[in-house]
Amino acid sequence: MTTYVSPSAELVDLRLSDDAAAAARDRAAGLKRFDLDRNQVLDLEKIADGAFSPLVGFMGSTDLRAVVDDGRLADGRPWTIPVVLQTSKGRAESVKVGDELLLWNAEEDAPSGLLVVGEIYRIDLLDAARKVYGVEDRAHPGVARWLDGGDTAIAGPIRLLRRSASLVPKAFDLGPREVRAEFARRGWKTITGFQTRNLGHRAHERLQKMGLELTDGLLIHPLIGWKKKGDMLPEVILDGYRLLVDRYYPPRHVMLAGLTTAMRYAGPREAVFHALIRRNFGCTHFIVGRDHAGVGGYYEKYAAHRMVSRYTKEELGITPLLFHGPCWCETCGEIVTEKTCPHGDRAWVDISGTEVRAMIGRGERPPAFFMRPEIADFLVARAKSGAVFFDG
Ligand SMILES: [Zn+2]
Repeated sequence: MTTYVSPSAELVDLRLSDDAAAAARDRAAGLKRFDLDRNQVLDLEKIADGAFSPLVGFMGSTDLRAVVDDGRLADGRPWTIPVVLQTSKGRAESVKVGDELLLWNAEEDAPSGLLVVGEIYRIDLLDAARKVYGVEDRAHPGVARWLDGGDTAIAGPIRLLRRSASLVPKAFDLGPREVRAEFARRGWKTITGFQTRNLGHRAHERLQKMGLELTDGLLIHPLIGWKKKGDMLPEVILDGYRLLVDRYYPPRHVMLAGLTTAMRYAGPREAVFHALIRRNFGCTHFIVGRDHAGVGGYYEKYAAHRMVSRYTKEELGITPLLFHGPCWCETCGEIVTEKTCPHGDRAWVDISGTEVRAMIGRGERPPAFFMRPEIADFLVARAKSGAVFFDG
């Protein structure tokens, strides 16, 4: 069976040069067009620019089976999240193995890429949901999106013709090569990567600075892409982080960029996926905190630590930093972790994105132990003048 992965550990690059893309577009006029939604376009772009290395295409059945059952690609390399071009059985009927498809960005009504169809196969959606997400429950936002995506997959190697319009300001829309080049320019040899889908509060700041104590640099890399209702809007996260980094972080050691891909909310599995992506961006260390990429109590607090620990750091190509907590302790009067403070639930106040959302929803200003005052003011002002969270 063919698998669509690079044989080497090099960063994948499937972006066509301008000339090659122009020639391909002429040729592509005669190809069968296949519409992609925004998340599929982003997946295509992440494969093409190497963010999803070693993938060189949308997964075939052999890789999908191995990923779902074992958390590895068919060749044994770690990979935990399906990257498949899902569609309905009906839409797949017009496609044959051997076809070259012109992948079309439906939202922008523009070409996106090319795919040579190697395989068309049925996905066992419920089996994959159970193994990847741990549940079949449609109330889980990642599961609902997966189940609604269609039970048929079109697999094959891809090429990128054209990037979609940026979801974030250009300065923050950087691919793996650009981020690596910036690390090199700054002379950083070791870099901690930090995944988030929220604006920084004091607990995240503590985690980031614990990482920065260990490495030359810190990449704050908020995920910008499809998210569930109630999650923070990308511009709020980026504007807020700019403010936070300006005031409270040493500029020589910190970099901020957006990662444009959908949240999966797959908890432990997604923690591994997030680590592999940051390896591709050139990070040497990656923070896995409490309930990483979790949602609504589906995952045990440190299940992601256990999942990540199933792989060696050599095979991941990045060193996971498995951090506890942190939270505010009334007795200590500072941010602490479960590992270092003995005072327990009576003294601890949880600091989380969920709590921020609740406070802003109630029209409250998050207190100083919770969030830096400039950031609290920024959020309150944004909430008054417009939207802060996705509304569905
Ligand atoms: Zn304490």
